[in-house]
Amino acid sequence: MAAERYWALVPAAGVGARMGGAIPKQYLDLAGRPLMAHTVEVLLAHPRLAGVMVVVSGADTWWPTLKLSGGDALMSTSGGAERCHSVVNGLAALAGAGAGAGDWVLVHDAARPCLREADITRLMDELSGHAVGGLLGLPVRDTMKRAGANGAVRKTVSRDGLWHALTPQMFRLGPLRAALEAAVAAGGVVTDEAEAMERAGHTPRLVEGSPDNIKVTHPADLRLAALYLEGQQKDRS
Ligand code: C5P
Repeated sequence: MAAERYWALVPAAGVGARMGGAIPKQYLDLAGRPLMAHTVEVLLAHPRLAGVMVVVSGADTWWPTLKLSGGDALMSTSGGAERCHSVVNGLAALAGAGAGAGDWVLVHDAARPCLREADITRLMDELSGHAVGGLLGLPVRDTMKRAGANGAVRKTVSRDGLWHALTPQMFRLGPLRAALEAAVAAGGVVTDEAEAMERAGHTPRLVEGSPDNIKVTHPADLRLAALYLEGQQKDRS
C-alpha cells in the first residue's frame, strides 16, 4: 500500500467579530508576529504534511503582506460565508492542487496559534488505519450547567463523556468533502468538520490534545496565547 499523504487546511476567512477592533483576529500581534503566522508555520514545519492550504476572505488585504517561508507547500484560496463554506472551498482547491480523495486533510483553525507539533503527530499516529478519522479534544473539567433566561440555572449537565472539540480535525478528503457539501446543500451550518461527518453517519474518534491549543476568541486570550508560546519556546531550548 502506498504511504499515507497528509495536507493541512486552515480556514482563516472569518472576521473575528467577538474580538472587536478593525483588524481580523488572525492578524493581531502575538509575540511580535501576526497571530496566523504562528499557526501556519507550525503546520509548514511538520515533516509529514505535504502542503498547507490557507482559506482567506476575498477582501483580505493582510494575507499578501504576511512573510511566510512555505514556498510551493503554502497555497491559498478564497473563503465563503461560514466556516463550513470556507472549508469546502479549501478542499476543492486542495483537490485541484493534486490531493487525492483518499488523502488525509487536517483542518486547523487559524485562530489556534499554540498548536504543538507533537499533537499533530499524535493525531496522525492514533488515527492511522482508522476508517473515518477524528479530532483533537479535551475532556471537560468543570461542572457544566444548562442556563435559561438571565443566567438562571435550569439544570446541571453531567460532564461524563463530555469533551471540548479542538482542531486539527483529520478526515479523508473525499468523504469530508461529500459530508460538508451534503450539510451545506441541506441548508444547515455545521460548526466543525466532525459534525458534518456525524451527520453523514460516520463516527469520528476523539484524541486527547494539549490544553494550550486554545482558540483566540476574546482579547484576553491573546495574553494567554503569548504565555503558552513563551512556555513552549522555553521547553524547546
Ligand atoms: O469564528 P470562529 O473563531 O469560530 O472561527 C473559526 C475559524 O474559522 C477561524 O479560523 C475563522 O477565520 C474561520 N472562518 C472561515 N470562514 C468563515 C468564518 C470563519 O474560514 N466564513
